[in-house]
Amino acid sequence: MKYVDEFRDGALARKLLDEIRRTATRPSVIMEVCGGQTHSIVKYGLDELLPPQIELVHGPGCPVCVTALESIDRAHALARRPDVIFCSFGDMLRVPGSEGDLFRIKAQGGDIRVVYSPLDCLKIARANPGRRVVFFAIGFETTAPANAMSVWQARVEGLANYSVLVSHVTVPPAMAAILESPGNRVQAFLGAGHVCAVMGWEEYEPLAARYRVPIVVTGFEPLDLLEGILMAVRQLETGRYEVENQYARAVVREGNPEARRMIARIFEPCDRAWRGIGVIPASGYRLREEFAAFDATRLFDLGGIVSHEPEACISGLVLQGARTPLDCPAFGTQCTPETPLGATMVSSEGACAAYYNYGRRR
Ligand code: SF4
Repeated sequence: MKYVDEFRDGALARKLLDEIRRTATRPSVIMEVCGGQTHSIVKYGLDELLPPQIELVHGPGCPVCVTALESIDRAHALARRPDVIFCSFGDMLRVPGSEGDLFRIKAQGGDIRVVYSPLDCLKIARANPGRRVVFFAIGFETTAPANAMSVWQARVEGLANYSVLVSHVTVPPAMAAILESPGNRVQAFLGAGHVCAVMGWEEYEPLAARYRVPIVVTGFEPLDLLEGILMAVRQLETGRYEVENQYARAVVREGNPEARRMIARIFEPCDRAWRGIGVIPASGYRLREEFAAFDATRLFDLGGIVSHEPEACISGLVLQGARTPLDCPAFGTQCTPETPLGATMVSSEGACAAYYNYGRRR
């Protein structure tokens, strides 16, 4: 398949690995930000092919995994209401809240619809004028433009029965939080290529300069990742800390200006709680005051929901790259994809699920 097969070429992978081995003279800890990158790395065993002085750690870039338990519990409270049609991307249905998941609520009679685009929710809202349609708007900057577009379009059409439960998170503040955390070991980042396809990389330049950390915008195929690692290692070896773009076939410096304009028109930055990590200042989006009529948190009484993570789960440390799934005592025993305790085991992009599905065992 064009743009896939040529990025999985074994001979080229060996050349890149040889070049990494020649270049790397000292220990390096590199974090891949995105869960999709984590899956490629584990699926193709890239981390095991690297020279031992290069350690890859997995970052907080899976949107399902980092959605706060409290946000999930709020979503579940809405999904249980008889007057609500609750719409969500499919990967949120198995994510455990404090009392089960959306599948269980659906089995108990909740009207829960899986959508592939938030614009599908508008069709549901038009077809059900007597019901209240709520969309669970989660994700990074990648999903934000379409989610924003749904609110914009609802306002254009005067759809008064549509609202969104916003739990968006943004990447650069999370990277800064990781770099400032006590005991941080991350020396370089592989930036998430799809996020940068929307946002570009201008906002990463102050991060690279302030924390003196190389950031390489990187794609998702094995050769993308190996080339991104090589670029990061070259920077570390030569004392540079710049933003470089490995994913040039998809990303330009300014990103997608129209998508960025749509995000800025509908959303504004806010503090956001990340699952297992806590509140990171200015790391989320919320609806602007102008769009309050579409804000589910204002339209429904969701106060009084207090959530507690399962004690056994260390996904917060996994999401910060401080531990691997293999460090979790529950991994593969109490916690499996069939019986997940934490979101990093549920999501197809979660590090725990990647380790489990691709046979990493203690
Ligand atoms: S294996 Fe399960 S319990 Fe352990 S960190 Fe991962 S999701 Fe949490």
